[in-house]
Amino acid sequence: MNILVIEDSSYQRQLISAMIADSGFKAICTSGCKEALDVLAITSVDLILMDIEMPDMNGFELTKIIRSTYLEWMPIIFLSANDSEAYLTKGIDAGGDDYLTKPVKQVVLAAKIRAMERISLMKSALDQANKQLELLSSIDPLTQVLNRRGLSPILNNSWVNNLKESAELSLLMLDIDCFKLYNDNYGHQQGDDCLVEVANIFSQVLDQSRDVIGRYGGEEFIIALPYTPIESARFKAQEIINTLLSAKIAHEYSTVLPYVSVSIGVSSTSYGASSLEQLIKQADLAMYQAKENRRNQYAVFNAG
Ligand SMILES: [Mg+2]
Repeated sequence: MNILVIEDSSYQRQLISAMIADSGFKAICTSGCKEALDVLAITSVDLILMDIEMPDMNGFELTKIIRSTYLEWMPIIFLSANDSEAYLTKGIDAGGDDYLTKPVKQVVLAAKIRAMERISLMKSALDQANKQLELLSSIDPLTQVLNRRGLSPILNNSWVNNLKESAELSLLMLDIDCFKLYNDNYGHQQGDDCLVEVANIFSQVLDQSRDVIGRYGGEEFIIALPYTPIESARFKAQEIINTLLSAKIAHEYSTVLPYVSVSIGVSSTSYGASSLEQLIKQADLAMYQAKENRRNQYAVFNAG
């Protein structure tokens, strides 16, 4: 636990840091606001013990600066010789978490540090859980590729980069052929297994460092190919079709082939889409064209 002490009196500084050391913790000592802000900018701090009366800036103002600069919460305990209730209230209102009157007793200080450490640990556990949740909520639990929610910010980013760098962004809309017949005849469990296998096959064909795949709907997937001209996107679409066919996933109820196949719509920013939504729409239209052309193939958006 990193404890930052901000105290202009060198006597108080030594006293407090000795108490902190005796309690089994380590203190980083600073003599004023500027020095403290410099430390905070480069060090991860778990607790701040702050004097209120300091020459360069008082503790209330410094607390306000810290709270507005760092979104990450770190507990701040004020230390002051002033024991008035008004002062305590002002400290809490400024963003402080506790208030101790000098001279501080070692046993009280150690107890407060332990209490703040407990809250701090609980908060890190909560932050961790939230991050995990955020990640989970953007991934399709079945296929483990991104879901629509996870896909959306990444597609937006690709779109923005494409505008900024005028690099071509291509999009593939993929729909598994006759998947309803697969589900109806083999059952939903096997249908799910099929989706997992197909998503894996799609992923294998992609450049993992750049291309992005997501599950768009039931048996619909979308693949973003940043920095990819339409010719390469066509090539990639054909590669996906071939790789899926060579896996020979049996589908005896398909009207196309006795195997699972896919129809792909291809679009690219070179066709003048004015928004990401329009680019997706174009890929979708092209996908329906591929379906009409007897499936198991790709079609490119027809701008004309
Ligand atoms: Mg002072």
